[in-house]
Amino acid sequence: MYCRNCGYLIKNQTICPSCGFHKDKGNTYCFACGKKLPFSSILICQNCNTRLRGNSKKQDIKQYSRLSVGFLQVFFGAFGIGRFYMHSYLIGFLQIIVTILTFGLGSIWGFIDGILILSGKINKDGLGNHLKD
Ligand SMILES: [Zn+2]
Ligand SMILES: [Zn+2]
Repeated sequence: MYCRNCGYLIKNQTICPSCGFHKDKGNTYCFACGKKLPFSSILICQNCNTRLRGNSKKQDIKQYSRLSVGFLQVFFGAFGIGRFYMHSYLIGFLQIIVTILTFGLGSIWGFIDGILILSGKINKDGLGNHLKD
């Protein structure tokens, strides 16, 4: 394939040796034939008819890091901060309520929650996406 940024022929590298861009980044050149594209938002290469966009959706999913979510929960789990951070709003909200209703005792839930996240027992965010290791 060709570098989308500079048109350099890339073999197995993920980073273009010529311009340093990631091989999936850039929209100046066709990755299939290496031709310069007439404009950057073009969908189909006019030279080789390759679809340039549309199947890269999966890479757009934001994956939260297990470490950042886990540590947020361990330290601020009383307020469900880690849960809110990873879109798990209902549980985060319940953790605040429990903490208030138990005068702080219930904050142990958020703490244990953080440990479970760090250890990988909980590995999905509120949107159903896996956490990144
Ligand atoms: Zn390049
Ligand atoms: Zn092409």
